[in-house]
Amino acid sequence: MPLARLRTVIELVLGLRRHDFRAARTFMDSFYPGQGLLPRAISFTGWALKLMWRLIPETSAWASFASPVSRTPVWLRGKDPFENHPFDADPSARLPQQVEVVVIGAGMAGSAAAYHWSKNATAGQMLVLEMNGVASGSAGRNEGLVVMGRYYYYVHHTVLAHLDRTRSDLSAAQRDGLAHEYAAAYAKSAYANAEMIAGTIEREGIDCDYVRKGWVQAANPDAVDRLEASTRMARETGFADWVKITKEESFEKSGMRTAGPSGFSIGAACWHPAKWCWGLMRIALRSPRVQLFTRTPVTRVEDRGEHYAVHTSRGVVLARCVINAIESQTPQLFPKFHDIIRPMQTQAAWGESDGGTMRPGTGISGDRAFFGRDEHGVIFGSDATRVPDHEAGRNQPSRFITRFLLTELRRQFSVARIHVRNEWSGTVSYTPDEFPIVGLMDEKRLYMVGGMAGSGSGVSFNGAHHVVKTILGLEGPDYYPERFFSAKRFGPARRAPTPLQPDLEAE
Ligand SMILES: Cc1cc2nc3c(=O)[nH]c(=O)nc-3n(C[C@H](O)[C@H](O)[C@H](O)COP(=O)(O)OP(=O)(O)OC[C@H]3O[C@@H](n4cnc5c(N)ncnc54)[C@H](O)[C@@H]3O)c2cc1C
Repeated sequence: MPLARLRTVIELVLGLRRHDFRAARTFMDSFYPGQGLLPRAISFTGWALKLMWRLIPETSAWASFASPVSRTPVWLRGKDPFENHPFDADPSARLPQQVEVVVIGAGMAGSAAAYHWSKNATAGQMLVLEMNGVASGSAGRNEGLVVMGRYYYYVHHTVLAHLDRTRSDLSAAQRDGLAHEYAAAYAKSAYANAEMIAGTIEREGIDCDYVRKGWVQAANPDAVDRLEASTRMARETGFADWVKITKEESFEKSGMRTAGPSGFSIGAACWHPAKWCWGLMRIALRSPRVQLFTRTPVTRVEDRGEHYAVHTSRGVVLARCVINAIESQTPQLFPKFHDIIRPMQTQAAWGESDGGTMRPGTGISGDRAFFGRDEHGVIFGSDATRVPDHEAGRNQPSRFITRFLLTELRRQFSVARIHVRNEWSGTVSYTPDEFPIVGLMDEKRLYMVGGMAGSGSGVSFNGAHHVVKTILGLEGPDYYPERFFSAKRFGPARRAPTPLQPDLEAE
């Protein structure tokens, strides 16, 4: 027995890759919040040794891996309906020379932009350019939750931390007030976004397995006071889609065993994220105003005054406006956005399984991982580690993390059997204040929807609507005021009077 364990440990150690060491830091920080570096490192080392010597070797009695494990995300197992669009139907198709708008990327944001253009534009052509397939980026590699966005307390907390670092010109009270304004603006747009999605699925009859039963999020046992504070803030601010539930309620909704209470997002839902994007794109392409070219990477965007020249592998297209919808890959195309759009790797796996106590249809996050159940098995994943810009978009999951997550499946759901068939990773993007960018990237007509901090479903649909509405000059509520959502807040002029200061002073 010790020999078998030793073999597993050697196998694990030999299998370690650079990302495992990067991710170790992420896990250490999230497992032991509030501790100093040395105690954190000691606790983490103890945990890692136990994991490698005892917990992971024990999983071999009930968990197995297909040979080989597929890198295809579970959502993309079927046929890609836009595999080689439009060439399958029209092998001689050519890119148009000039259009009103080019959208770069056909994930959640790009597909949403195409949908909104098809519904609202009465003139002008939109061209969507996608380097792989529709939903081949994070949109088709994710957990499958439609979130209500990050909850108010979280947004306030991350924005405030950024303001504390960067806005010493403001008093502490001003920074706190400003962080509240950001959080309220975000929550307002995200709540509207969730209802727009639900309404669109119903009205359009989009078949994307949408089930709205909420999302249970286990609190870190060392941070229950934060859960209390966050649900109190939700009540006090009126953005009340975030409540505390007991561990019994948590188990009843999710089947997850927790040490204490959990947070619960009432309005969150589960869906098939790729079917959502495909559904939007199908509707968009019914309009003569929308064109899609997949397998067409954009290599450069050049400002030529009245137009942008969008360089692609198939030639150059002139566009009056550009919508950048490539999220974590933004710095690859727009190097100025290095350190403004920070790519972070997250990964997931799927296996045929009895599922243990896990319930289908509800979003589930443990304090260390996320989980979901379908008819035949379970999806599980974790990680949020920054990777270099050139690694954004790659599919390079860590087997060590997958094996660790198996131990969590056992601990929280008593899973008795699993055969892991798919394992993949994707990258999402975080801005320095973890607040999205929806609006202009330059002073002209180059827009973006990005920096959604792993919550793309909470921003992309309404965000893309906002950008399309702005380009078309349509009336309607402004869910993404420039003073909060613009990339200008990270621009070179941010230490000069920012767009925020005059507003603050006027109040
Ligand atoms: C493991 C994991 C779990 C997640 N879970 C959830 C969840 O449950 N709920 C949720 O809301 N969010 C989740 N997310 C985040 C969510 O998937 C993203 O926020 C969302 O997909 C972002 O949408 P997007 O359209 O901006 O970017 P993407 O979906 O990444 O789409 C960008 C597209 O641009 C294309 N592209 C890139 N560069 C170019 C180029 N130069 N030329 C042409 N095309 C290009 C890519 O191929 C890609 O198709 C998760 C992410 C991961 C990785």
